[in-house]
Amino acid sequence: MKSSLPAALGGLPVLESETPMARPTVNADPQLHALLHEILASGQMTNGAQVTAFEREVADFIGIEHAVAVSNCTTGLMLVLRCLGLEGEVVLPSFTFIASGHVVLWNGLRPVFADVCKETFTLDPDRVAAAVGSETAAVLGVHTFGAPCDMDALERLTETRGVPLVIDAAHGFGGTYPDGSRIGTKGVAEVFSLSPTKPFTTGEGGIITTRDGMLAEALRTARNYGNPGSYDSVLLGLNGRLTEFSAAIGRSGLPFLPVWLEQRRSLVERYQDHLRGVSGLSFQRIPEGARSVYKDLCVVVDAAQFGLERDQLADALAAERIPTRPYFDPPLHQQSVYHKYAADRLDSVGAEGTLGATEWLARRALTLPLYSHMPEEVVDRVCQAVHRIHAHADELQARV
Ligand SMILES: *Cc1c(COP(=O)(O)O)cnc(C)c1O
Repeated sequence: MKSSLPAALGGLPVLESETPMARPTVNADPQLHALLHEILASGQMTNGAQVTAFEREVADFIGIEHAVAVSNCTTGLMLVLRCLGLEGEVVLPSFTFIASGHVVLWNGLRPVFADVCKETFTLDPDRVAAAVGSETAAVLGVHTFGAPCDMDALERLTETRGVPLVIDAAHGFGGTYPDGSRIGTKGVAEVFSLSPTKPFTTGEGGIITTRDGMLAEALRTARNYGNPGSYDSVLLGLNGRLTEFSAAIGRSGLPFLPVWLEQRRSLVERYQDHLRGVSGLSFQRIPEGARSVYKDLCVVVDAAQFGLERDQLADALAAERIPTRPYFDPPLHQQSVYHKYAADRLDSVGAEGTLGATEWLARRALTLPLYSHMPEEVVDRVCQAVHRIHAHADELQARV
């Protein structure tokens, strides 16, 4: 294939107007409009029948006893850690979104970062084992970009050490584990985000799934200031309620989610088919038998083979009107809020090479545009741009 010039070298951009990184996919049909009007007219905008029905439908969809709707995933995770009554340290990845760490700090707990696997992007169980010590109160796993972390190994480890395993499943709604069960069925609790950049959204929102009925009850109290109804608050909760409007949006979308996720997976396959042959680009490895929902499609850029650094590729794509994101750079342990904790635990953070895979990935990972109803044409254009840029890597390199 003879490549024309990349836009960064004066060629025409592959897109006439910028494509969004992500867009919410929702089922805004007349029934939903009617339902939203009904909620408005009823005066019951929170604590109503929509939230209760949404929780039951989500629990059935996932195949779990309890689902507790909350205002967002961050609040959900804060409340889970709070309701478990933890003290001490929480072992978690640094290669994750800001919120995974903040929920630890908000509970007065100390984060201890464990490294991830370069191939799967998720927690390396051996590194978690090395980070767990006498101060460890919990392990917080993350299903990064919608691919499940190694739950078999993490469950074995946390059971042996007697600490709870909590999951930040923000990216994972609708995905499955290698054994075929849905994400949301493992650990002490899993917490999903329903914010607009996630594959399943209610505008803002979150949902916690658990088998533990006592924990579910505590969470329902906790999301309501810790007030069990008597106005004698029994724990330090907060306002973490989902609105009736959001629950209605979720109920309207849930039946369509499997179709949306199939569309999304087929877009990812299209990306991979087009990009597999490009030297220096690789993809996240999904555990055998598991199904990712691809909250993000991330490519790992090896500069030596591709011919350009990750950031140079991002700049060249921006010239083609293609936005990208360097998720997750900087990783948590390199963010200002976390410097103090990095210094506290030199054995897990800061000592040379201990978060080597995290830092390696953070420098190389680049997220491409993806949403469930994105036209296939956009994938083709993005890949065309990547090919062009790769073919002219030397000239682009010479310009900087
Ligand atoms: C988006 C996200 C969250 C936070 O979700 P909200 O619903 O916005 O609070 C937490 N963890 C990860 C990994 C995320 O990507």
